[in-house]
Amino acid sequence: MLKCRRVLGWFLILWLFLISNCKEDMQKAIYLVPAEGVDVQILSELKIQLEKVFGFPCKIEETTEIPLYAFNPKRNQYLSTAILESLKIPKDAIGVLGVTNLDLYVPQLRFVFGEASFSKRVAVISLCRLHEEYYGLKGNRLLFEKRAITEAIHELGHTFGLHHCNNPKCVMYFSNSIVDTDRKGYNFCDECKEKLHGILEGY
Ligand SMILES: [Zn+2]
Ligand SMILES: [Zn+2]
Repeated sequence: MLKCRRVLGWFLILWLFLISNCKEDMQKAIYLVPAEGVDVQILSELKIQLEKVFGFPCKIEETTEIPLYAFNPKRNQYLSTAILESLKIPKDAIGVLGVTNLDLYVPQLRFVFGEASFSKRVAVISLCRLHEEYYGLKGNRLLFEKRAITEAIHELGHTFGLHHCNNPKCVMYFSNSIVDTDRKGYNFCDECKEKLHGILEGY
């Protein structure tokens, strides 16, 4: 009987050890993958905000190369879908966000601020049209940061399964222009917030 209890005791210790290790292995993270030339400071700012919003650690990866075939010389833009497909997905990634300075497009639109794939959990954003200078205006660092955070949260929101929202003040509203991005800001409306919490609880 005593021997049996001892065996059970060891079994319990082993089980607890395995459980705690498993939990460590399963610690998921959001990955930020910068392309060449992306400002380090904006990456740190994004990391802080994404950790706050999604509640997962955010890791900044090494710089990645944008595939040459993504470039469309007729449009002088890069196909965002091709960039999405080129991004590697680490095993512990809950979401991967590529960040580039290049101007992005999808065939049916003039440009995109970003694109996301729910099934692959990857997204990409372009910082190109987030600078005031792009519109011939004087640079505004704070506004640029706010726009980058907005686009990053929007695209990652898609990777977590959120769709576009009809509320123009919600971060999940579709941005047709920089005016939309500025109007909506980076907060979720109550409905999207609730949906996101429900989704995140499942991880
Ligand atoms: Zn969207
Ligand atoms: Zn919403």
